[in-house]
Amino acid sequence: MAPGQGSVAIVRISGPQAETIGRLLFRAPGQQPWDSHRVLYGHICDPATDERVDEALLLWMKAPRSFSGEDVIELHGHGGLIVVERVLELVLAAGARRAGPGEFSQRAFLNGRLDLTRAEAISELITARSRRAAQLAMAGLEGGLQRRIEALRQQLLDQLAELEARVDFEEDLPPLDGAAVVAALEEVRKALEELVAEAGQGQLLREGLRVAIVGRPNVGKSSLLNALSRRERAIVADQPGTTRDLVESELVLEGVPLTLLDTAGIRPTDDPIEQLGIARSHQAMATADAVLLLVDLAEGWTTADRDLRAQLPDQVPQLVVGNKADLAGVTPGLLPDADATAIDVAISARHGDGLKALATALLSRCGNSLGPGLVVALNGRQRDLAAAAAGSLDRSLEAAAQQLPYDFWTIDLRQAAGSLGAITGEEVTEAVLDRVFARFCIGK
Ligand code: GDP
Repeated sequence: MAPGQGSVAIVRISGPQAETIGRLLFRAPGQQPWDSHRVLYGHICDPATDERVDEALLLWMKAPRSFSGEDVIELHGHGGLIVVERVLELVLAAGARRAGPGEFSQRAFLNGRLDLTRAEAISELITARSRRAAQLAMAGLEGGLQRRIEALRQQLLDQLAELEARVDFEEDLPPLDGAAVVAALEEVRKALEELVAEAGQGQLLREGLRVAIVGRPNVGKSSLLNALSRRERAIVADQPGTTRDLVESELVLEGVPLTLLDTAGIRPTDDPIEQLGIARSHQAMATADAVLLLVDLAEGWTTADRDLRAQLPDQVPQLVVGNKADLAGVTPGLLPDADATAIDVAISARHGDGLKALATALLSRCGNSLGPGLVVALNGRQRDLAAAAAGSLDRSLEAAAQQLPYDFWTIDLRQAAGSLGAITGEEVTEAVLDRVFARFCIGK
C-alpha cells in the first residue's frame, strides 16, 4: 500500500459541536439509537447534495467519558487519500477546524483526563522504535512516573507546610524537629538523583544511537552492516573503495535502536568521488554518538589503522573491532588483552560470529549497561526539571546546615516542589504546555 493509504481511516472530532456535526454528516439507516459509547453503521454524506461520500461507522463518546474529556465523534471510514480528504472537507465545512499537533492530548490534559507525564508517554509510545522503548512509554502511560514524582512532591509539600507553620506561628506550635526535615529532604534528593541518573538509559532506549562504522577499504564494513541488519542493503564487493556513499541502516540491538552509518573506506586517494565519500565519513564520525573502528585481523593492527584512529574525534566513544576472525584464527568475542593489541572485540562479519559481544561492548562503551530493571525513565524535559529540583534541595539543605532561619529553607524548597509540579503538570505555565504538545504529531 502506498504511504497514506490504509484499510481504515478515523476522523476524530472533539468539542461541544461534535455531536451536531456528526448528526449533520452521518446517515444511519433503520432505528439505530444515537447513544454514547455505541457504534452506528451508515454513510457519511455531503449535506448539500446528499451524495454518499463513504460507508462508515460512527462512534460517539459523550463528555466526560472520552479521551479528551469533551464530546467526541469518531468517523471510521475507508482509508483512501481522496475519500479521507473529502470527509475532512465536509467536517471542516460543518464548523470544525483542524487539530494542532497534540491538541487532543492537550485538551485531555486541560480537562484533567491525563497528567503531563501520561500525555508525553502517548507521544513516546507512538514514536517508540524498539520494544523496550514502547514498554517504558506504556509504564509512563499507566502513571508509573506520575505516581513516583507526585509522591516525592507531596513529601516536599509536607515539609514545607511544617516549616511555613513555624515561620508564621512559631510560639503556638511544638518546636520543629529540624533533623527529621533534613532527613526527609535528603531522601527526596537521593531519589531524584537516581531518577536523573537513570534518565540516560531511557534516552538511549527512546532515541537510540547513531553509530558510524569506519575503517580502511575492504576490512568488512559493509559486511558487518549486513550481518547486523541481516538485510542485504549495502553493496559488498572485493574491489577496495566501492562504498563511496553513506549507507544508513536502522536496527535494534539489545533493545536500543541504532542507526548505523557505513562510511566510505578512509585512505589517501586522488579520486575526487572517493574523496567526497571520505569527507562525508569524517562528517559522519563527528556527528555520531559512537564510532566503530573496524580493522582486518588477518592483516593485524596496521600503521594505517593507527593513523585512522588518530583521526577519530576524541569526545565520541570508540570501539575497535577486529573483523575476519575466521581468517586470522582468532576466537570471536571480547579480547582479554585489548590494551596490547588495541583491538577490543573480534568478530567474523561473514559468519555472523561475535556480534553479541560487539553489541554488549558497544553499549557499555557508550556508558550503558542496560539493566532489565528500568521501569520508568524521565525524558529530557523531565530530567532537567528533576535535576533542577535536586539543585534547589541542595540549597535548602545548605540553609539548614548553616542553621539559617526557616524562611531561608522554604525559598528553595518551594522551588523544588514547583519543579516537580512542572513534571506532572500540576504547576506548569501555558508556554511550557505549548512547547510540550507542539512536539506531538497531528491527530494525537
Ligand atoms: P568494506 O570495504 O570495508 O565495506 O568491506 P566489505 O564488507 O565490502 O568486505 C570486503 C571483503 O571482505 C569482501 O570480499 C567480504 O566478503 C570479505 N569479508 C568481510 N567480512 C569477512 C569475514 O568476517 N571473514 C572473511 N573471511 N571475509 C570477510
